[in-house]
Amino acid sequence: MSEIIIPLHGLTRSKQEFDFALEESFLDGFGREVIQGVNCAAHFTAQQKGDWIEIHCTVAGEVKVECDRCLEDLFLPVAIDETLTVRFDENPEEVVNEDDNNIILREGTSEMDMSQTLYDLICVSLPLQKVHPEGGCNPETIAHLAKEEEQAASGLNTPFSGLKELLKQKKN
Ligand SMILES: [Zn+2]
Repeated sequence: MSEIIIPLHGLTRSKQEFDFALEESFLDGFGREVIQGVNCAAHFTAQQKGDWIEIHCTVAGEVKVECDRCLEDLFLPVAIDETLTVRFDENPEEVVNEDDNNIILREGTSEMDMSQTLYDLICVSLPLQKVHPEGGCNPETIAHLAKEEEQAASGLNTPFSGLKELLKQKKN
């Protein structure tokens, strides 16, 4: 699994930049149920702002998912532009935090792995309906699925369907 680490100690009021390539190995820690492939560039700008840190994050590239309609590979563009704030607390687990872009870490944390944050940002940015544009689905798979649906609807694929056919033939 690739590590997307941003050092938090030593940041200053002038902006510091960090670049990471998100490739196949990025998904190792997350499974591949939602996102099956990734090819993105992540860029961070981190800046100390008094007792908190501002991290501006952009992600650009594409991910591979499964088309909801034809189940074939579907490549979706990724374009993320978010500003995160990192704050520190003695007991971060006790802090009520309702803002996803607000990250609370234990006082003294020296570095931050952005993998989970990036993965969540990418997932949230994807459309709910992941389908090829009209006419872009695999026609064979679509035809096959339509046939299965039709069969299921007419009950032709029940264990007795063959028997029914046989009886019909005998009557004639
Ligand atoms: Zn499709």
